[in-house]
Amino acid sequence: MSRSAELFDRAKAVLPGGVNSPVRAFRAVGGTPFFVDRARGACLTDVDGKTYLDYVCSWGPLILGHAHPAVLDAIRGAAERGWTYGAPCAAEVDLAELVRRRMPALEMVRFVNSGTEATMAAVRIARAATRRDVIIKFEGCYHGHADSFLVKAGSGVATLGLPDSPGVPGALAELTLTVPFNDAAAVQEVFTRRGKEIAAVIVEPYVGNAGFIAPEPGFHEALRALCDRHGALLIFDEVMTGFRVAPGGAQQRLGVRADLTTLGKIIGGGLPVGAYGGRADLMRLVAPEGPVYQAGTLSGNPVAMAAGLATLRETERPGFYDVLERRTARLVAGIGDAARRQGVAATGGHAGSMWGVYLTAGPVRTFAQAKGSDTGLFARWHCAALARGVFLAPSAFEAGFVSSAHTDADIDFTIAQLDAALGEARAR
Ligand SMILES: *Cc1c(COP(=O)(O)O)cnc(C)c1O
Repeated sequence: MSRSAELFDRAKAVLPGGVNSPVRAFRAVGGTPFFVDRARGACLTDVDGKTYLDYVCSWGPLILGHAHPAVLDAIRGAAERGWTYGAPCAAEVDLAELVRRRMPALEMVRFVNSGTEATMAAVRIARAATRRDVIIKFEGCYHGHADSFLVKAGSGVATLGLPDSPGVPGALAELTLTVPFNDAAAVQEVFTRRGKEIAAVIVEPYVGNAGFIAPEPGFHEALRALCDRHGALLIFDEVMTGFRVAPGGAQQRLGVRADLTTLGKIIGGGLPVGAYGGRADLMRLVAPEGPVYQAGTLSGNPVAMAAGLATLRETERPGFYDVLERRTARLVAGIGDAARRQGVAATGGHAGSMWGVYLTAGPVRTFAQAKGSDTGLFARWHCAALARGVFLAPSAFEAGFVSSAHTDADIDFTIAQLDAALGEARAR
């Protein structure tokens, strides 16, 4: 028995499903998850000594790869000065200023500890500011695990094929209306019926939690216009896309400005940080400046702030995003060529270094179309790729990531292994 299998057996007795976040359990692809011993650069090494090229990158935060020396130095340096104060520190101001410079829509920012906390708070502000209760979200989009968002959600909810979660009061779920992504006409129809009740539209500007889905041209402009016409707020959930799809996130790439924006993942460089921010008039509603309550014992933690600052500063090197995007485009094109060689229907896409491939002819513009992909073949492909040293997200409905630690040679190796793995998966 492998050490991973032993650990997983022990884990299942003390942790639900053996994990602390559902998709890690490999339920959608079968087999036993590997337990990690250490990680560096583009690679993870498991407790049995096997090394994998990592395209999960901790589900998004690690745009520099694992254990980047500059981030490690920043974490060490910060920790030596104490690791939580319960009082303000300079790094919070530095990071907030850096965020505002990169994403001007965030005129003011509040740091929290996760993406879930950020989206929860953003909706609370939207409800307070508009004095309305209803929100619109899109099928397959994931905004963390807060009650209001577990309605037709993506990520693990989609991966495991779960119905809307038990434990969410019906009275609350009724306040979340869902619409297909990329369907501006459907959003317009909901606004026509219930415009006076709608506080906000929340959207992943590029969907990453139902696999990767790009917005159609004009979709976000239409959301912006509908929100303005009906007095609702537009919330861009950039927990995944922020600092990922462009230096200034999806809002820079798309040229659309949100009223409120949520951040997470890269902003903490792999330590637990989330943030929400936006128009100053809205952010001034937050306590202690205003009446909307939101607080956190460890929020603005100095070690986490230092990791986020060091990570974001590294991404400001000239050409950083261009090189990453070029490598990612090559990876996605290479997988497409491999699928054609293997006679497998596939469609892929990317924005910056966020990418995805569906095993279906496509095109995929909605979650319903994404669900048409061959999940059985994906599971066998995932398993064969893992055996060949390539770690893809253990779900057909998650985006992948390329980090600056992935070299051109890594990409070539990956395409060759994924090509062979696809052949093996198809034959089985
Ligand atoms: C990951 C993610 C979240 C949740 O963030 P956590 O830090 O896991 O709570 C929310 N929204 C989007 C778009 C995400 O990708």
